[in-house]
Amino acid sequence: MIKLYYEDSYIKDFTAKVEKCIPKENGYAVLLSQTAFFPTAGGQECDGGTLDGQEVLSVYTQNDEVYHLVKNPIEVGKTVPGELYFAERFRKMQHHSAEHIVSGLAFSEFGLNNVGFHLDSSGVTIDYDAELSEKELFKLELLANEAVWKNLPITASYPTEEELEKIKYRSKTDILGKIRIITIEGIDVCACCAPHVKRTGEIGIIKFTDMIRHRGGVRIKMICGKDALFDYAEKQKSVFAVSNMLSAPQFEVAKAVLKLKDDFDALKREKAAEIKKLATIQAENIPKTDGNYYVFAEISDKNALRLFANEGKKQVGGMFAVFSGNDKDGYSYIITAKNGVKDFVKTLNTKLLGKGGGSDIMAEGQLLSAKAEIEAVLKEML
Ligand SMILES: [Zn+2]
Repeated sequence: MIKLYYEDSYIKDFTAKVEKCIPKENGYAVLLSQTAFFPTAGGQECDGGTLDGQEVLSVYTQNDEVYHLVKNPIEVGKTVPGELYFAERFRKMQHHSAEHIVSGLAFSEFGLNNVGFHLDSSGVTIDYDAELSEKELFKLELLANEAVWKNLPITASYPTEEELEKIKYRSKTDILGKIRIITIEGIDVCACCAPHVKRTGEIGIIKFTDMIRHRGGVRIKMICGKDALFDYAEKQKSVFAVSNMLSAPQFEVAKAVLKLKDDFDALKREKAAEIKKLATIQAENIPKTDGNYYVFAEISDKNALRLFANEGKKQVGGMFAVFSGNDKDGYSYIITAKNGVKDFVKTLNTKLLGKGGGSDIMAEGQLLSAKAEIEAVLKEML
């Protein structure tokens, strides 16, 4: 079978004779006399498209032959049209060629070896065997884009074994068949089986979007061409919105958000201090008693309610119960005592549609009952 994608990576449609059509669990595997569909290989997902009007579900290789999985059988011997979703194929070519540029430069500039590559609809991830600083990452990105602007030719060749021995090239373990060498003039020489763009200028933009530590090295996320432009547009929208909301210049939104966060944190601290003060004052108004005491307090903040309970129990010798909420949403409670809280709360929850618990000296929970119902039960129990 002829692999048309090696003859010309820009072939969008073709016709071919069906040579085999093998029933499979999830459809039919079709072998053609020739194909432009690139199979799943070397970290890259296969091409999408149609074959004889049917959706191609997957494309894979077996014994160096390319099979197309389709839902319904196609007659052997029939000449059928094949059509690639070429926008997606071109996108993959852009990203794959960009990966060669970046990995070639990562090796020549920083001595990094590419140890992992994955290309799918979200972009490319590349793994390297050593770390890169932020500064080095930016330099790598800039050099890669400079290689794009030079519009360098990208060529494929099939050197003989003797010729190969003389060539210095980056190699991968996932080579299909004879060694195919992809050369990007002055940037990279690498063994590769995938379709590439003809010149680096077609890549458009190479943009790194993330770098994380990964298995003793780094994993870089990268997008190219239209993906990079769309990514920029989306991020620009966010920056523009934040810039408008905070009346800050676009390049200073991070600084403006940091200021806002600092102001907010200060307010939170202020509020917490005030709540604490209020809770203490309210707790001080609880009459000293050796018996039990309950109170409905207007304290919505959970921490303040806890503080109030802790202060309140100092005034009360028996069980101290505090409730906060309203008849519509129910009431939060905190109950403290020297002992016996567990059983008390269990009964309370059962009688008043409640849930919650804790230790024998302190419990927290909620009741889905009205104040009058709670008070009636408390009068009975306390
Ligand atoms: Zn490659």
